[in-house]
Amino acid sequence: MKIVVGHLYPEYLNIYADRGNIAVLQRRAAWRGHELEVQAVSADDTLEPGAHDLLYIGGGQDREQALVAHDLKGKRNQLLAAADGGAAVLAVCGGYQLLGRFYRFANGEELPGVGLFPLHTIAGERRMIGDILLDTELVPGERRTIAGFENHAGRTYLDEGAEPFGRVVAGFGNDGASGAEGCRVGRAIGTYLHGPLLPRNPWLADWLLAHAVAHRTGGEAPILAPLTDDLERDAHAVSAQRARDRGGRF
Ligand code: GLN
Repeated sequence: MKIVVGHLYPEYLNIYADRGNIAVLQRRAAWRGHELEVQAVSADDTLEPGAHDLLYIGGGQDREQALVAHDLKGKRNQLLAAADGGAAVLAVCGGYQLLGRFYRFANGEELPGVGLFPLHTIAGERRMIGDILLDTELVPGERRTIAGFENHAGRTYLDEGAEPFGRVVAGFGNDGASGAEGCRVGRAIGTYLHGPLLPRNPWLADWLLAHAVAHRTGGEAPILAPLTDDLERDAHAVSAQRARDRGGRF
């Protein structure tokens, strides 16, 4: 089967090894006999709802975010329609912030967001940097730790009742205080974790791929053939331990 990924603004939002995340999706799809085609969706490109099974938007600093925010806002309706139609979404760091309602700089100026995630972000003074470990339950009854690295000054505040991606075991998370990290709306996940994220959390890559396949077929998310994942498990364990050693929260 062919799975089509729309990579939003790869020339701007790419600072946190985002290519590594895409490479993992590509390889894990290929190992299951699927072809993963990655299409760049850049400024002035049209985003066609339904054309992509998975949308990816990566990390960038304030400057890059400012360069794409208004173009992204122009794609708002199409992006919401794509997610509503069941496309999987992974948004990392700067991209995660822009899929919320707005991102406010320290000087009070604001970048508009898309509003896919029920949250907003306000820049703080102190950067929240380091290894981070989460406890997640994307599939009911299946708890998984997710390990990564965070580096952000923005504090993200979820609306009342919004579902975080995970709970912080060690690290800062959305705002350094609530214990919540990221946000999930259906098949869309936003998170501050990069590092890159997917090589050390292969089950998250598979969750995204399975939902991308479900979007393509219009059916249920399939159970993908298991892979050995020895190296991936080791990478996860090392990263998780680093976060645990770092200890407490903000
Ligand atoms: N504006 C962001 C911040 O909070 C950028 C996030 C990122 O991708 N590093 O620092």
